[in-house]
Amino acid sequence: MKKLAIYPGTFDPPTNGHLDIIKRALKIFPSLLVAVADRGAGEMFSSVQRVAMLKKALAGVKRVQIETFSGLLTDYAQKKDALVVVRGLRVISDFEYEFQMALMNRRLKNGFEVMFLPPSEEYSFLSSSLVKEIASYGGDVSQFVPPGVNRLLKDKLERVKNG
Ligand code: ADP
Repeated sequence: MKKLAIYPGTFDPPTNGHLDIIKRALKIFPSLLVAVADRGAGEMFSSVQRVAMLKKALAGVKRVQIETFSGLLTDYAQKKDALVVVRGLRVISDFEYEFQMALMNRRLKNGFEVMFLPPSEEYSFLSSSLVKEIASYGGDVSQFVPPGVNRLLKDKLERVKNG
C-alpha cells in the first residue's frame, strides 16, 4: 500500500512555518518526503543550499527525507508512488492559488490528492518572501527561521552589500 506523503515547495529559505507543517504531517503519515523545487533560477538560495538548510533544521527528526525535484509535481509524485501531497494553508489568500493548483494537478493526473494543513496561528502570517524582505532591510528574523537559516541569510545579505 502507498504510504509516502510529499511536501513540495520552494523553501527559499525554510521558515518555522514550514517546520510546523512538516511536524504536523509526520503525526499523520509514516514518512514524509520534503521536495525542494529546483527551478534553475530566481531564488535567493540554490536548491543545494535549501536542502542543506532543511537537513540541518531537521537533524534528528526521523521519518523525513529531503531532496530536490524539477519538472511537474504530478510526474514527480507518480515516480515516487506517493499517496498524497501535503501543502500548508495559511490565510484566506493561500486558498485560491492552492485550490486552483490542486484541481489542475488532479486534471493532469487522475488520482493526485492534496491534503491541506493549517499551521499554528503564530506562523499563519509567516512567509519566506516576508522573511527575505525584512532581513534585506536589516530587520531581525531570528524568531521566524531556524538558527542556521538566520546565519546564512545574514551572510548572504552581507555579501550582497559588500558586492
Ligand atoms: P511554494 O512556492 O511552493 O508556495 P513555499 O516554500 O512558499 O513554496 O511554500 C511551500 C508550502 O508551505 C506551501 O504549501 C505553503 O503554503 C506552505 N507554507 C509556507 N509558509 C507557511 C507557513 N508559515 N505556515 C504554513 N504553511 C506555510
